[in-house]
Amino acid sequence: MTLPFDSAWLRTFRRRLRAWYDRHARDLPWRGTRDPYAIWLSEIMLQQTQVETVKPYFQRFLAALPSIRALAEADEQQVLRLWEGLGYYRRARQLHQAARQIVADHEGRFPCDPQSVQRLPGIGRYTAGAILSMAFDQRRPILEANTVRVFSRLLAYSGQTTSAAGQKLLWAVAEAVLPARDVGRFNQALMELGSEVCRGRAPACEVCPAAGLCYAQLHGLQHEIPRPKPRPQFEEVAEAAVLVRRRGRVLLIQWPEGRRWAGLWDFPRFVVHSEKEAEIQRELVANVRRLTGVTISPGEHRKTLRHGVTRFRITLDCYDAEYVSHNGGGTENLVQKWLRPAELEHYPLSSTGRKLARLV
Ligand code: SF4
Repeated sequence: MTLPFDSAWLRTFRRRLRAWYDRHARDLPWRGTRDPYAIWLSEIMLQQTQVETVKPYFQRFLAALPSIRALAEADEQQVLRLWEGLGYYRRARQLHQAARQIVADHEGRFPCDPQSVQRLPGIGRYTAGAILSMAFDQRRPILEANTVRVFSRLLAYSGQTTSAAGQKLLWAVAEAVLPARDVGRFNQALMELGSEVCRGRAPACEVCPAAGLCYAQLHGLQHEIPRPKPRPQFEEVAEAAVLVRRRGRVLLIQWPEGRRWAGLWDFPRFVVHSEKEAEIQRELVANVRRLTGVTISPGEHRKTLRHGVTRFRITLDCYDAEYVSHNGGGTENLVQKWLRPAELEHYPLSSTGRKLARLV
């Protein structure tokens, strides 16, 4: 693939980017380390999550589980509890599985060949490139939201960046711009440029080290590129959660494999279809019985929470209920526990589950 950069362009771009990063790099807790475990953990946490949100989670997680071996030996519940509130819990479960795989197949040492790295659960081409370049100084490209924006503007690429052709082009640029040495730092500089200067809505071309080299800026196209992605269609969903009480304890279920919050604990919750109070009460009784086998007497409406999960906008109504009787485990056969309010602290809950736990 022919790219519109000659060697003089590449030399100037690399020199300017490095000089800019030397002066402007933020001091983040995962920077300055060559430990592949810490780099891997930060990269997984930073997927779909803001830097400021990740910082305390990263430090807490690393303090509790300071090595791949410690993570592999940890209980999944501990891992999920440390992850609680970060969302996208599949990331935590895959991180845990990958640590166990590294202990089983690589004696607990993070592998340094790309095939082995990409065979680990939850690690794709981007994450592998980030870890291998930052921890082992291998010449591996990276492409994520920030660098997609920087590269498509450098090129003035007006196509769809998520298309097969767009991805092929951008990966080729990601590889072409890399220097021979100190590649991990250079990759971090590229991401930093996208995050701090070449921002989505307000690119700061006037202070950018790529000004004069960047085709979007030279043609005044920085606000049109990259082309916006098609807006996702949101779906409104009504759900209910029930705080079922029995002699000072409250009923929790654990979501099984394949469900949205697999491995986490929650109050019985489900989609509701009715709008009239009497019909909602009947749905509460039927659904709690279906999930747990417990028959309840529904009580007051306690709270309404609104939150989004992927393409769903969920309105969650929370109700009190009293235990009446118990017949078997319910048709869903979920793991369930009756917990004292103080015990809830030790169980990983979904974000809404934790908010409801505060009501208990
Ligand atoms: S010159 Fe402007 S558009 Fe180009 S990389 Fe820099 S900030 Fe982005």
